[in-house]
Amino acid sequence: DREARNRGRRKSRLVVLAGPTAVGKGTVATYIRENYRDVLLSVSATTRAPRPGEVEGVNYYFVDDTEFDRLIADHELLEHATVHNAYRYGTPRAPIDKALSAGHSVLLEIDIQGAMQVREAMPEATLVFLLPPSWDELVRRLVGRGTEDSEERERRLSTAKHELAAQNEFDYRVVNHTVAEAAREVVDLMQTRGPSVAPK
Ligand code: 5GP
Repeated sequence: DREARNRGRRKSRLVVLAGPTAVGKGTVATYIRENYRDVLLSVSATTRAPRPGEVEGVNYYFVDDTEFDRLIADHELLEHATVHNAYRYGTPRAPIDKALSAGHSVLLEIDIQGAMQVREAMPEATLVFLLPPSWDELVRRLVGRGTEDSEERERRLSTAKHELAAQNEFDYRVVNHTVAEAAREVVDLMQTRGPSVAPK
């Protein structure tokens, strides 16, 4: 059972959640932010444009290439990567340092290249790889999301194949059968004070 599986697991204050495109990392990360106390969900900077409904400072900090270059030059990013050969994404360092100093836990939802950089920069980080229940299910989720055109979708699927090969580099693997279950498994690896008062 869960108790037995988790025996011997090292709880970490810094957890990186990565996995192939469309596996549901964002949904799991948001669920954790909304349902558990004491977890800072890191907000990344990106050069891509906002999707409908995305909010500056909540989903991302939307910046142009010049500003992204400045963030790199000023060492304000813990890690950064170009994802899907298109846009740049990076993790602001200061909010993480601040949260860790204050005794909170931090969750990063980033791509695999980024996860490897975090491991180098902060070896105490725990790296979690989120897996789809199957390849067919991953394709269904990518098509179902409907946010990409077919060319972009093909590009992301080919990226996903490569991404799945990286799973052995990670400390733990979690299969995303349902959001709540996957979130629970990730939270089991974090140091938190448990569920928020009123789970939604
Ligand atoms: P999307 O454009 O769909 O929001 O995200 C595309 C990819 O970028 C996802 O795989 C997501 O995990 C990754 N990503 C988001 N923020 C960061 C970040 O700060 N650093 C890195 N390396 N990847 C990120």
